[in-house]
This record gives sequence, C-alpha cells and structure tokens, in this order.
Amino acid sequence: MYLTHLECPRCGRAYPAAEPQNLCACGSPLLARHDLAAVAAAVTPERLALRPADLWRYRKLLPWPTPGTSPRWARAGRRCCAPRRTGPGSASPT
Ligand SMILES: [Zn+2]
Repeated sequence: MYLTHLECPRCGRAYPAAEPQNLCACGSPLLARHDLAAVAAAVTPERLALRPADLWRYRKLLPWPTPGTSPRWARAGRRCCAPRRTGPGSASPT
C-alpha cells in the first residue's frame, strides 16, 4: 500500500491514512497522498496494462491492502443494488 496520508489542500493539515476521515477541521475535502516514487519503482505502465480493466488494476494506490477487504461499492463493474421504480405506472406503493 502506497497511500501515505490524507492532506488538506486548503490549510495543509495532514491526517493518518489508516483511520477513516471525512472533511478537514477547516471544512475542506482531503486529498490522498501517495509515495509515487515507490509506486513508479514497483509498477510499470506495461504491467498495469496486463491487469484486468477494473478498479483492482490500481490496487497499489487503494487504501485497502487486499481485494477481499474492500467495501462492496469499490468493486468496479458491479451494481450494488437494483434501481427502485417509482412514480405513475409503477407497481410500488406510493
Ligand atoms: Zn484544512
């Protein structure tokens, strides 16, 4: 895992990547910061192109160490739930 920390682009405050975070204390969204030199040394563009074309192609940049530990929504190409029909003509009660 090459994610090093989360950083606020507004005030520069850093947060640990291993803990769930929301917004910065100043209200700004946080940016994920990676050790890009280490990623470049470990993964070449040619190797990335050989991986399946889904979210796990970039697993080295994700905060989860293994695919089995990811949340359901992170699995690209899969729907997590069927859309619910509403409105006139739907069989659902209103
Ligand atoms: Zn901030």
